[in-house]
Amino acid sequence: MNPNRTVGILGGGQLARMLAMAAADLGFNTHIYCPDRDCPAAQVANKVVFGNYADDKNLADFAKNIDVLTYEFENIETKALDELEKIVVIRPSIKSLKISQDRFTEKSYLNSIDIKTTQFYKIDEVSDIGKLLIKVKKPLLLKTRRLGYDGKGQVLIKTSNDIKKHFQGNKPSSLIAEEVINFDRELSVIIVRDQEGNIKTFEPGENVHENGILKTTTLPSLIDNKLKNNAKQIAKKIVDNLNYIGVMGVEFFLKEHELFVNEIAPRVHNSGHWTMDGSYSSQFQQHIRAIMDLPLISTERHSDIVMYNLIGKLTNDLVSSELAKVYIYGKKDSRPGRKMGHVNLIKKKGS
Ligand code: AMP
Repeated sequence: MNPNRTVGILGGGQLARMLAMAAADLGFNTHIYCPDRDCPAAQVANKVVFGNYADDKNLADFAKNIDVLTYEFENIETKALDELEKIVVIRPSIKSLKISQDRFTEKSYLNSIDIKTTQFYKIDEVSDIGKLLIKVKKPLLLKTRRLGYDGKGQVLIKTSNDIKKHFQGNKPSSLIAEEVINFDRELSVIIVRDQEGNIKTFEPGENVHENGILKTTTLPSLIDNKLKNNAKQIAKKIVDNLNYIGVMGVEFFLKEHELFVNEIAPRVHNSGHWTMDGSYSSQFQQHIRAIMDLPLISTERHSDIVMYNLIGKLTNDLVSSELAKVYIYGKKDSRPGRKMGHVNLIKKKGS
């Protein structure tokens, strides 16, 4: 093992912060590239390069001083990465990023490998929405193809009046329309794959969202083991098919014993934060291990656990609970909907 190596991360938010801390535990250095001088990861990294993601020259200089480049968010122009790939190893691959950063490409890809998603349609013109509404006779969830996260850029359309209200006078950029699914539960699987194709999967967690933002992840989920295994097998199929290296988060809707993939994230994922305290390894450590060619370790869960996101203002109630592990991201400004930290509330397994 040669710890004297450096991980580079594009993005300086809380995911980069927790990745940098996991990298430090394994003896690696971390360099962060981000535009924001107050970014959460800057407080814990060895070096921070402040720059714009479109600044090719700055990015190239950044890449020259690192051994492996990874990223904490999907919305990176892959044109810039194509240049960086000539200088440095990028993990997960640019291909995985390209697929997941566009909802239409993502869902088309999943269907192409026989993985079920919600029914979806490409929207190029406002008139497409009205025609579709007449055809499917069901409410539609309109989502931006790119740059959407935490429910941002999503509009529910039930009637032609809704179309007028939200789209009159503006030409939509690329959108998809999804049929609304009345799911019973939301689940996610955090999976990691290394260069040799070894795979470890964390137990599926059960997620609750509020206004499109993840509120809690609970382990164990009450769904039966067969469904848990099905979810893991679907996640495995995706990472194998992509020849993927690193951690991926796969989000599912469960409806009447059927699993639909909602989203894949080619990175560590908010619904995997429970692993920091509920499992023998965390998703952050596994990601660093995978991209730095260290062996993957046990993903077994040792405790029952609920992860609570601290959204908007920080409050004291959860933070001062006896069995709470608290993570505050060090963001200067709070605002509604902003993830400020999370708390893992631990219960002994089966208690
Ligand atoms: P997304 O940005 O696609 O991850 O959506 C955020 C959340 O909105 C999901 O976790 C669901 O709770 C809800 N949602 C998204 N798409 C659908 C859908 N087609 N039907 C019902 N709920 C959805």
